[in-house]
Amino acid sequence: MDTVARIKAAVIREASPGERRVALVPDAIGRLQPAGIDVLVESGAGDGAWLPDAAYADAGASIVSAAELYRTADVILTVTRPSPGALSELRKGQAVVGMLAPLADPELAAALAARGVTVISLDGLPRTLSRAQPMDALTSQSNVAGYKAVLVAAGEYGRFFPLLITAAGTARPAKVLVLGTGVAGLQAIGTARRLGAVVSGYDIRPSSKDEVTSLGATFLELTSVGSAAGEGGYARELTDAERQAQQDELTGHIARHDVVITTAQVPGRRPPLLVTEDAIKAMSPGSVIVDMGASALGGNVSGSQPGETVVTGNGVTIVGADNLPATVPAAASAAYSRNISALLLHLTRNGELAIDTSDEIQAGVVIAHDGAVVHPGVASLLQRAEGGAGVDGPSH
Ligand code: NAD
Repeated sequence: MDTVARIKAAVIREASPGERRVALVPDAIGRLQPAGIDVLVESGAGDGAWLPDAAYADAGASIVSAAELYRTADVILTVTRPSPGALSELRKGQAVVGMLAPLADPELAAALAARGVTVISLDGLPRTLSRAQPMDALTSQSNVAGYKAVLVAAGEYGRFFPLLITAAGTARPAKVLVLGTGVAGLQAIGTARRLGAVVSGYDIRPSSKDEVTSLGATFLELTSVGSAAGEGGYARELTDAERQAQQDELTGHIARHDVVITTAQVPGRRPPLLVTEDAIKAMSPGSVIVDMGASALGGNVSGSQPGETVVTGNGVTIVGADNLPATVPAAASAAYSRNISALLLHLTRNGELAIDTSDEIQAGVVIAHDGAVVHPGVASLLQRAEGGAGVDGPSH
């Protein structure tokens, strides 16, 4: 007989404007149930990803109203930060699991901790740990974003990406430059190559050269700046002198490309400016830039705004990419669902959440528990903010 305790994990309907992803797809439900996890789904949660309530019900979930969800759930599953209204429903003993960007918004974790809510964020995962890879939502969503960035660029570009030889003439292939060749950048390179473009990639971490060339792209080497490899495979922030040298040298390269896709991020910092106003002025009319680093704090490209497309006086289209994974909602949700399910299974013992921050994975993802912010990085940001030092525009 089954004597295992059971917890209720509930999928909310995402509320941010334009957000079409959903935290779990129906396929996940059968994998969670044997571990003592019953799934509740807020009615309409999957609509944006073409997953109707009936698909969840058929897979064994209970379809509930928002009110019932917050009243009965033990664990709330979300893609991004829930709305203020939803957050105010959370109560002591409940847990929320999602991509909550606690480094960008440590106050959210503090407010939930004060109410006794356990806060678990996938963006804190130790990504280089091989057993954590199935849970790596930053990677899965960056892959989707890198792919879509190329399609967005191709859509804005007034010519072909591939070499086309037809009776009406020969079109030369587009020259695409990808700045920042982490997960999103490498996926962008692969996608642009598949569309037939001639692709170059550049990153401040020289170790990415082999990855770039193995995809059939050329690695751009700058002579004026060396390596800025930081901790954990990430880049460090450049000094002012390095940044200036990088911008100056990149300007010449940028002008020789038709399409530039920027993905550069430095954890805990605002995205570095790689494409300056001078670089944009040097580009040919009809060129396209997609800035995946676009944020309210500024992006990789001078003048880009998240969610906005502008055409400059010299005819360069600049797309401020905003939540690209949400624009590929079925694929992004399927991947995210795998990530969050793997994490949930890792956190669950005998039908209960077993919080244990001595575990390396949990130490990264558990942000608040038992009424306190337990994640050292988030706690120190809060202390700095209390001391008046402020928070310098984190990227994740
Ligand atoms: P990210 O989103 O933090 O940044 C994107 C890229 O921007 C990085 O490659 C970074 O080096 C680059 N960048 C930052 N500042 C720059 C500048 N001034 N000029 C040019 N490029 C700049 O990075 P990410 O995609 O999350 O990946 C970061 C690293 O983590 C990579 O080394 C990746 O291979 C590694 N990673 C490893 C695993 C794993 O081991 N399973 C999983 C995911 C990522």
